[in-house]
Amino acid sequence: MKRIFIAILTILALPTNSQMQAQTVNFSKYFEDATLRIDYYRAGNRQSDTIVGCYDERLPIWPGSYTQLIDPFDNGHFRIVVKDARRGNVIYTRHYNSLFNEYRDTPEGKDSIAMLEEVVRVPWPKNPVDICWEERGANGRYFTLSVLRYDPQTRLKVMSQREYTRRVVTPLKLQYMGDVHSKMDVVIVPEGYGPADSVKMINDMYKFMEYMLAQEPFNSRRSDFNVWGIPITGKASGITDPNKGIAVKSLVGASYNTFGADRYLMTMNLFRLHDVIGDTPCDHIIIMANSDTYGGGAIYNFYAISSLNQMAPMVLPHELGHSIGGLADEYVDENLSYGGMHKPTEEPMEPNITTLIHFDQKWESMLPAGTPVPTPDNNSVKRSENGPVGAYEGASYHSKDFFRPVMHCMMRDYAPFCPVCAKRLNQVFDLYTR
Ligand SMILES: [Zn+2]
Repeated sequence: MKRIFIAILTILALPTNSQMQAQTVNFSKYFEDATLRIDYYRAGNRQSDTIVGCYDERLPIWPGSYTQLIDPFDNGHFRIVVKDARRGNVIYTRHYNSLFNEYRDTPEGKDSIAMLEEVVRVPWPKNPVDICWEERGANGRYFTLSVLRYDPQTRLKVMSQREYTRRVVTPLKLQYMGDVHSKMDVVIVPEGYGPADSVKMINDMYKFMEYMLAQEPFNSRRSDFNVWGIPITGKASGITDPNKGIAVKSLVGASYNTFGADRYLMTMNLFRLHDVIGDTPCDHIIIMANSDTYGGGAIYNFYAISSLNQMAPMVLPHELGHSIGGLADEYVDENLSYGGMHKPTEEPMEPNITTLIHFDQKWESMLPAGTPVPTPDNNSVKRSENGPVGAYEGASYHSKDFFRPVMHCMMRDYAPFCPVCAKRLNQVFDLYTR
C-alpha cells in the first residue's frame, strides 16, 4: 500500500487537562458510523518517544459501541484521546499498550532507538478533531506526546485521489450473534497457512473460536460475541522460529523468540495485520499461528496470538486476558528481558496485581472477613481451583513485593480465571455490548 503521510504536531511533555470522568458522549452529534484508521510509527528508546508519520483511511463501519465512547479503565501505558477541535471537549478515548513499550524495557531499548508500527481505530469524526497521543508518565499521570488536527472533509478529498492495492476479502462469519455495535467483534487472522492448507485453516478457526468461548467468563457471554475469520492463506506453511533456523514468509510475519524469549511469538507488522483485516468489523484481534511449538503473546488493546500447540486451549484464553482484559501475568519469572516494567514503589495499573500501596483501589473489598494481608500460601488448593481470594505474594514476574488475588488463576498457571480477573473481563465485555 502506498502511504501518504500527514503532519503531526509534536508537543513535549504537556500535562493533559482532559476531563476523563464518566460521561456520555452523543455519538451521532460527533461521529459517523464509520472508522478512521491511523497507521503511524512510534520511535525512540527508554528516554524518548516520538510519533512519526501518519497514514489515514476510512473504513465503512464503526464496530464499537454507540454509547461507551469514553474508556472507564485507567489501564494501559498509552491513550488515544479525540477532542472536538472547536470546543476542546473529549469525545472518545481508548487506552492501550504496544510492543514499543516492551522494547524500551529490553537491554537494547535502554539506548538504541527503534521505530515500531502502531495502528489505532477511532470512530469517524463529522467535524475537525484533535487526535492526541498520550503517554503515562512516571507519576502515573498522562501527558500529551503528539496532536494531529484532523479535518475529515479535507482528508476525504485526499483519500479519493489515492491508489489502493489493499486486498479486500469477505470475512467468514464463524459466529454471528447480531448488530456489531452491541457485540464484541473478534477477528481471527490465520498465520502460517500455505496454499494447500485452506481446509485445515477453516477447521482450525472454529477450533480456536471454541478455545476462547469455552472458558469462563467468555462461556456465559457467548451470545455477546461475533467472531469473524479472515480466509486468506499465505505463500508457505509454518511460523518463523529463529532458534530452530526456520524462516517463513507468512501472511503477517509472526515469529518466535521476540525480544529473546523463545516462547514469545509476536509480529511487528501492524500495518500488514490491519491491511489483512481490512473492512472486517474489529474490536479485538486474534492471530492463530499454524505451529505445534508452544508459544503466544498479547498486548492490551493491540492483539493476541497463540500457536496451535496442545496447550492452545489454555494459552489463547490467557493471552486474551492480556489483550482484552488488560490483565497482568500473575506468575513469577525473573529472567524475562521485558519483565521490569513494574516498580515495587508504585501501585501497578493492572486490576489483578498489587503492591499493596493502594490495595483499596484493587480487590481488597472482595476478601473474606478476617483474611490476613499478605495472605500465606495455601498449597493444598488444587490447580483446577482458584482457592480463597487474598493477597498472595509472587506476581507480575516478581517473587517479592507483588501480590495476586488467588493461589491459581488463568493468568498464573492456566487455572480458571479468578474472580478478580473474571470481573474485569465482564466489565470490558460490557464496554462493547451496551
Ligand atoms: Zn487472576
